[in-house]
Amino acid sequence: MNKYLILIMFSLTSTHLLSQEAISDGPYVFIEEQRMLEKSVVDGTVVSVELAFSSLDTSYTIQPSNFNNVEKIAALSDIHGQYDLAIEILQNNQIIDEELNWNFEDGHLVIVGDIFDRGPKVTETLWFIYNLEKQAQKAGGRLHFLLGNHEYMVLHKDLRYLHEKYPKVSKLLNLSYDDLYGKNTVLGRWLRSKHTIIKINEHLFVHGGISQHFINAAGVDIEAINETMRKSIDRSKEEMKATEFYSTYYGSAGPIWYRGYFYDPIPEQSIDSILTQVKSKHIVVGHCSNDEVVSRYNNKVFGVDSSIKKGEYGEILFLLNDGYYRGTKSGEKIELE
Ligand code: CA
Repeated sequence: MNKYLILIMFSLTSTHLLSQEAISDGPYVFIEEQRMLEKSVVDGTVVSVELAFSSLDTSYTIQPSNFNNVEKIAALSDIHGQYDLAIEILQNNQIIDEELNWNFEDGHLVIVGDIFDRGPKVTETLWFIYNLEKQAQKAGGRLHFLLGNHEYMVLHKDLRYLHEKYPKVSKLLNLSYDDLYGKNTVLGRWLRSKHTIIKINEHLFVHGGISQHFINAAGVDIEAINETMRKSIDRSKEEMKATEFYSTYYGSAGPIWYRGYFYDPIPEQSIDSILTQVKSKHIVVGHCSNDEVVSRYNNKVFGVDSSIKKGEYGEILFLLNDGYYRGTKSGEKIELE
């Protein structure tokens, strides 16, 4: 990113050094009236750089949530700050090249939620996705980053699952961690433009899943649900909990928390009924961890949380015209049947 920056001022605003290990993190870019302020932690010291207002986008268009005639699709989820492993899986499966550039042509890559929390390289992962999204679109492809329960948790100040590094970063920057992704930050605005559910061809993608309970309460209008979820980011939990809104959209049967396809699973007949109502043939979800990418209900449900969060192994799902495949960490394609 640095090559786009116009360096106006360089200042060390803090000389705090962490006594144990010197941490590095960032950048966090704050949008002010006439400028942007980029703050990073470099070896335990806060470095602030003033950027020209035009250095990065300050508004993000809401992209469509429905795509047709897509030739190839890949999906993975629950990266949880495990940047290095995610990069390895994407490289070995030819989604990106050695220089981390988009290599999936006109394909669509779906990140099915949960980049935040648990692991130590959340910021690196977010900026990587931020940049890759632009490259994908230029190449005629797409990168879709859907928000999972951990994105919504952090944005709603539920900071229980942060890696131990981030409270230190937050303290150094003298801001609450969720304020690093506030409405006047570049990544905060970018996150606030993201969907919760998208449909590509006949595949529906959502972090947790779609339950009958949710359909009964909220309907099946994907665009409307996405808009409702986006608007809820800046509503307080207390206010949302004052009505049934919170339990519908954020409860255990809501789209970012539902686990009903995996734990004590619902009958296949119920899956068929849900699929009919959402006008899809397959649902791709993350959120429930397995050792690999899994298929359930005769390929009607694919689970792509392959436990990348452990930082050891992970996979990617391919939905291609000739079949459905698990892409292993080393890049082998194994058909799901
Ligand atoms: Ca999750």
